[in-house]
Amino acid sequence: MRINFIKVYMLFFFISGCAVNNKHFTDKKNSNETPIKEHSTLAVLWQQNAAEYRALCHQAFNIARLRLDQFVTESKSNKPLAVITDIDETILDNSPYSVQLITNDENYNKGSWLEWGRRESATLVPGAYDFITHAERLGVEVFYVSNRYAEQLDETVNNLRKVGIDSVNASNVYLRVSESGKEPRRQKISETHEVVLLLGDNLSDFDHVYDGKNMSERNEYVTKMKTAFGQHFIVFPNPMYGDWESKGIYENKRLSEIEKRDMRHKKLRN
Ligand SMILES: [Mg+2]
Repeated sequence: MRINFIKVYMLFFFISGCAVNNKHFTDKKNSNETPIKEHSTLAVLWQQNAAEYRALCHQAFNIARLRLDQFVTESKSNKPLAVITDIDETILDNSPYSVQLITNDENYNKGSWLEWGRRESATLVPGAYDFITHAERLGVEVFYVSNRYAEQLDETVNNLRKVGIDSVNASNVYLRVSESGKEPRRQKISETHEVVLLLGDNLSDFDHVYDGKNMSERNEYVTKMKTAFGQHFIVFPNPMYGDWESKGIYENKRLSEIEKRDMRHKKLRN
């Protein structure tokens, strides 16, 4: 009886092991046939080349400027006014990092992201410099709330200064410390400032209701909050990555490359 039990137990582990190995093999075979980031090539090309991308960024900053002028004129707040902006794909263009992922046939990972950050070579999103300097001329303080890692603070400040944003200093840059949710950082800034505008490429840059939400919830909240966009929230295009992909398309799941491909096809609406 005991020997039979051991046999069944061993058989179970043998089968489990085969399943894992087969899946691993299939994934590897797939990655050899199609580079795992091949599907993002067009998105990166669009950001780097399409004049429409450039036009959308200028449009976003132009609306931000109009709103800021309006808030400065109309504000009755006792607190100084402030703008909170995200950094990546809002002020700095990291598309060369996405190119690196395509050419190296790898997914985003912390190691390569930190290495890219240390180069301090991200360029400006079109229109960013003019908007930041305009805000400063109006006496509006600019806070940078980003989910770059806390250890990236020095190179982030350096990168911003290299592209001409001389006024940036570490005390105005709030990076990710323990959690990716930005609400506590926004609250902290709101204690001393009247935050009139938020700029970002990811809905979580604007409100915590978007944190961790799936595709349909994200879309529902956008409809509910539709009057805030172009008013207090200024959205920038980012077709390369974001919660729209990880939490939306891939439903916040850890998926193999084949499962991701299937999920992408499944989400296409005919
Ligand atoms: Mg961003």
